[in-house]
Amino acid sequence: EEKEGFVGVADTDFAEEERRKKSRLAFEGVRQELGKTYLPFLNGEYVNTTTFVDSLNPSRFSEVVGKIGLLSVEQAEEAMKFAKAAFPAWKKTPVKQRADILRQAGELMEERRAELSAWIVLEVGKPVKEADAEVSEAIDFCLYYAEEMERLDKGVIYDVVGETNRYIYQPKGIAVVISPWNFPLAIACGMTVAALVSGNCTLLKPAETSSVITAKFTEILIEAGIPKGVFQYVPGKGSQVGAYLVNHPDTHVIAFTGSQEVGCRIYAEAAILKPGQKHLKKVIAEMGGKNAIIVDESADLDQAVVGVVQSAFGYSGQKCSACSRVIVLEPIYDAFVERLVEATKSLNIGETELPSTQVGPVIDANSRDRILEYIQKGKEEAKVALELPAPTQGYFIGPVIFSEVPANGVIAQQEIFGPVLAVIRVQDFQEALEVANGTNYALTGGLYSRTPSHIEQAQAEFEVGNLYINRNITGAIVSRQPFGGFKLSGVGSKAGGPDYLLQFLEPRHITENI
Ligand code: GLU
Repeated sequence: EEKEGFVGVADTDFAEEERRKKSRLAFEGVRQELGKTYLPFLNGEYVNTTTFVDSLNPSRFSEVVGKIGLLSVEQAEEAMKFAKAAFPAWKKTPVKQRADILRQAGELMEERRAELSAWIVLEVGKPVKEADAEVSEAIDFCLYYAEEMERLDKGVIYDVVGETNRYIYQPKGIAVVISPWNFPLAIACGMTVAALVSGNCTLLKPAETSSVITAKFTEILIEAGIPKGVFQYVPGKGSQVGAYLVNHPDTHVIAFTGSQEVGCRIYAEAAILKPGQKHLKKVIAEMGGKNAIIVDESADLDQAVVGVVQSAFGYSGQKCSACSRVIVLEPIYDAFVERLVEATKSLNIGETELPSTQVGPVIDANSRDRILEYIQKGKEEAKVALELPAPTQGYFIGPVIFSEVPANGVIAQQEIFGPVLAVIRVQDFQEALEVANGTNYALTGGLYSRTPSHIEQAQAEFEVGNLYINRNITGAIVSRQPFGGFKLSGVGSKAGGPDYLLQFLEPRHITENI
C-alpha cells in the first residue's frame, strides 16, 4: 500500500562555503568549552559526585573534552526512586504533550547542529560529515517517534451492536537506556526519546567514552521541557551503575546498544525475578555484526568498490552495520581486489574536522590494541593486500585489507570493530550465500549484482536484518530503513521502524457491554 512516508531532515551541504564556515566557527566555540565538568542530572537537578573520569579526544588525547562526574550506586538508587515518583503523572500526560517535547528537542538540535557535530567529532573521533549526518538521525528519531506515538495512541476500536471494544497502549514504567559511544548522539537519543514518548520514566547511562555528548543531549531535553524525574542522566561505570539498574526490581525495559558480550549478560540478568519484582523485564539489545557484501561476476565493479570502501572504512569500521567481509566470486576476484586496494589508498585519513576526511581515529587505547591484535592474527591466516599508514598522534589505525581469507578464519568470524576488511574468494553464488550466512550474526548485508536470479535468491536467503542491494550497507535512515538484526546481532525490533515503540508499551484491551 502506497502511503505518504515520513521525511527526515537534511544533512549539511558542506559544498557551501557558508556552511563550512559555520562548522569552523562551531569548532572554535566548542574548543573554548573543553575540559569542563559534567554532572549527572537527577530529579531536575545536577548532583555532585565523588568520582570523575576524563573524556579524551581520540585524535589528540592530550585534549580533555570534558570531566564526567560518575554516579555512585547509592545515587542510582535515588534516581530510581525519583523515576518511580514521576511515573504516575508522566503516564497521564497526554501523548500530544509528550510528543511536542520531542519535536522541541528536535528543533533545538537543529539550531545547535554545527555545535553538536563538533562535540561528536572531538569526543569520539567521527569525521565531521558523518557527525553531521548523526545529528540529522537524532532529530529524525525525535520527529518520527513523536508521530509514531500519536498514531499508536489512537488505538483500535471494534464496536458491534451492544458492545464496544478498545485496544489501547499504556507505558510499561521505568526504562533504563544504555547507549554506545559509536553513535553517541543518535542512538542515545533514539532509545531515550522512544522510551519517553511512550510514557516511561527513563534513565540514560551512556558509554563512558561519550558522556559529554550525552550531557549535551541532556541539556536539550531540559530545555525542551522534560519534567523532573521523567528523564535522568546517569553516567557511571557500566559494571556498577549499569549492572545495578539492569538488576533493579523496578526496571521494566532495558534498551541497550553495544557489544554482544554485554548484551547477552544484560539479557540473562534481566530474566531473573528479583524479590519484590512483580513483572518480567523487556530487553531490547542491539549488538554486533560481521556483515558481508557479496560481489558477483555481473556486478558493476565501480559501484561495488565505492560501496565496499565506504561501508568498511567509514568511521574506521566502528559501526555495527559496517562491512567487515567481502565475498567475491572467482571470475572477478583478482580484478576486484586490485581496484579495492587502489580505491582504499585514496581515502582521506586524519583531520576529523575537515568535511573531506573519511577515516579518523578509533575510540580508545583498548580498542586500538584489540584491533592491532586482530591485524596480527590476520597476518597469520591470510594475505595482506593493503596496510595503510596512519597519523602517529592519536589512536589512528590505517585501513587494512586482507585477501584470501578463509571463511572460517578468526578475522572472518569475529567482530573487529575497526578498519579491517577480509576478502573471501568463492566459486559460485551458492557458496557466496553460505559463507555470508556462516557467522553468528545477522545484522546488515549487501549484494552487488546485475543478475535478477541472484538478487531474488539473496532477498530470500541472505539472513540479515537489513539487506542492501547495489549500494553501501551503512547509514540507515529513520523510517526509510528501519534498522536492526537478529541471531546474535540482537533482540527486539528495528530502530526507526513501525514496531519499535511497541516494545516500550503494554497493550490493553477493554470491552464494554452496553
Ligand atoms: N544505524 C547505523 C547504520 O545504519 C549503525 C548503528 C550502529 O552502529 O549501532 O549505519
